[in-house]
Amino acid sequence: MPEKKPPTRTALSDGLKKLGLTRDIDLALHLPLRYEDETALGSIAASHDGDTLQFEGQVTDAEVVFRPRRQLVVIVDDGTETCRLRFFNFYPSHHKTLAIGARVRIRGEIKRGFFGNEMVHPAFKAAGGELPSALTPVYPTVAGLSQPMLRKAVWAGLAREAAAGGLSDTIPVPISSKYPALSRYSLHSSLSFLHQPAAGVQLATLEDRSHPAWERLKAEELLAHQLSQLQARIEREQFQAPALGAGPDLLKRLHAALPFKLTGAQNRVVREISADLKSHQPMHRLLQGDVGSGKTVVAALAAAQCIDAGYQCALMAPTEILAEQHFRKLIGWLAPLGVQVAWLTGSQGKAERRKMLALVESGQAQLVVGTHAVVQSSVVFKRLALAIIDEQHRFGVRQRLALREKLDQPSAQPHLLMMSATPIPRTLAMSVLADLDVSTIDELPPGRTPILTKVLSDQKRLDVIERIQAQIAQGRQAYWVCPLIEESEALDLTNTTATHAELTEALPGVIVGLLHSRMPPAEKKAVMSLFEGGQMGLLVSTTVIEVGVDVPNASLMVIEHAERFGLSQLHQLRGRVGRGAAASACVLLYGTPEGGRLGELARERLKVMAQTNDGFLIAQRDLELRGPGEFLGARQSGAALLRFADIAQDAPLLKWARDASAELLSAYPELAQQHLARWIGSKANLLAA
Ligand code: ADP
Ligand code: MG
Repeated sequence: MPEKKPPTRTALSDGLKKLGLTRDIDLALHLPLRYEDETALGSIAASHDGDTLQFEGQVTDAEVVFRPRRQLVVIVDDGTETCRLRFFNFYPSHHKTLAIGARVRIRGEIKRGFFGNEMVHPAFKAAGGELPSALTPVYPTVAGLSQPMLRKAVWAGLAREAAAGGLSDTIPVPISSKYPALSRYSLHSSLSFLHQPAAGVQLATLEDRSHPAWERLKAEELLAHQLSQLQARIEREQFQAPALGAGPDLLKRLHAALPFKLTGAQNRVVREISADLKSHQPMHRLLQGDVGSGKTVVAALAAAQCIDAGYQCALMAPTEILAEQHFRKLIGWLAPLGVQVAWLTGSQGKAERRKMLALVESGQAQLVVGTHAVVQSSVVFKRLALAIIDEQHRFGVRQRLALREKLDQPSAQPHLLMMSATPIPRTLAMSVLADLDVSTIDELPPGRTPILTKVLSDQKRLDVIERIQAQIAQGRQAYWVCPLIEESEALDLTNTTATHAELTEALPGVIVGLLHSRMPPAEKKAVMSLFEGGQMGLLVSTTVIEVGVDVPNASLMVIEHAERFGLSQLHQLRGRVGRGAAASACVLLYGTPEGGRLGELARERLKVMAQTNDGFLIAQRDLELRGPGEFLGARQSGAALLRFADIAQDAPLLKWARDASAELLSAYPELAQQHLARWIGSKANLLAA
């Protein structure tokens, strides 16, 4: 085939830039999506329908036909059988290479049918060339950058990086040998192999990344992530935070004023947090506990310790409803003890905001509660010492960084307490969150009755409505949750509004409320207070009630189109009931489109919900089914930065990397830095957040 015009430099460099391949090491780490096997010739007779076949033969016919559309049809005979080739786009080079009588090498997917053998748009060239000894890689690319161009650039980048010493081993043998598979390849040899695997390798082991060359690469990557977190921890330990020692007596008075006795688990985590706060080293702790396990009071006690020592505490929650619940609860506990609490959200009026900002800046407000508004640049603290973030995985990395920067001395950081009701599976806690101390509330307050969960088809809707009626007749309350339709907020709204209308009509005499994210805050507030006051029997809402709503008298939760939710999200929603003494139930309604049946996987998932109330178990299943996004939220999270390894699948490698990072950093600090620079480079601060 005659060479086409050589590509312009800009096509190449533009394409590489779009792919983010600027350094040689980036090129070396740009791995194939899949491979094509051009190392062997087959025969038409021995091939099967659908095979990718490469063969050589003689062109016995070639003509342009016009039915059903203009196309070049070529017949090639390899001595065993003939095969018809069809080209709908063709150029003079086709006619030249595929001339009658020419011997050619053909490669494509063969269809073996009743009307003979056929290939559409196969690759072709003159026969007799040398066969490559390696598989041909196919790389992820962008429009305008052809595979051969990219392949050449990648291989050249790999060679340059190797020649410059950039692929030298940073994992010494005493460390790599602790995971036997790692000794089969070095970084350099694994990359050389994956860019050009020798003929005969099992393609499946490359596709599922179980080949030892892949293992080596994944180990290198995981090690880099572990190192960066270890390093972040060591760096943080150089910072100072105010040591929040014993103050006059606020903490004691709060303990005495609480309307209940703390559970054993709450007492334990309070001690863990309190010890951290007394230290000059900034706390970096995750408090996890299932929905309803009582994290808020733990946060209040931490805040009290901070305020007692003469400092300010900030508490940030992801939604206004949740922030307000905290605000009210904390005011209820702390205001009688003389603590000044300020309130900051995006929706408050200018004058009120100005007043609040002044309270924060002067230090009069000892506790500041709010949404994202708390970290805006206009907020200046006088003496911030403790930041508490509820539902931390719903915040982006950048907001967490912004909170840390709220202290004016560059050498200081506030203590950080992150709370989450979505328990972090162990593998995840070990990997992307390795830089975190974890406290777990693994016990619910006494007197809770377990929630009974039922999975029902939407066809049972009327029965469910009857059940709501019965609950309300007994003086109880219920929630009805409609799913968020991600593609269309407007559609979402109509849907929720229609359901609200349907239920209002079906339940005469019951006050049915409506709550969704587009409502003005004042209206939301009014609806919530009617529900909290008990006048409203049923609350129809989108997932805005997911977190933090606490109405103990609500004992029935209906979730419509439950199959569209993540398991952890369902668990969170379900946690809105079962907060009082009455037996509570959760009904998961699933939709059956076009009268069909719910898919196998979807049913399996919902079954998990019916079988267990254990948030950890559910979280683990969710991680397996949906990946780490659910837990880490932001796209910029550490897990998303893993390109090769998969924390759920590569748990044994992860364990190795965890031990290896500590050993490398202490025994081979220079290699550790080299390894980090190679793998992480500029992404380090995102990983550390
Ligand atoms: P979550 O961990 O989901 O944030 P909350 O802090 O909202 O849970 O607590 C759930 C409910 O349990 C609240 O009404 C809270 O006042 C109550 N609670 C918390 N701790 C205890 C306890 N030790 N004994 C009884 N009730 C408690
Ligand atoms: Mg909470």
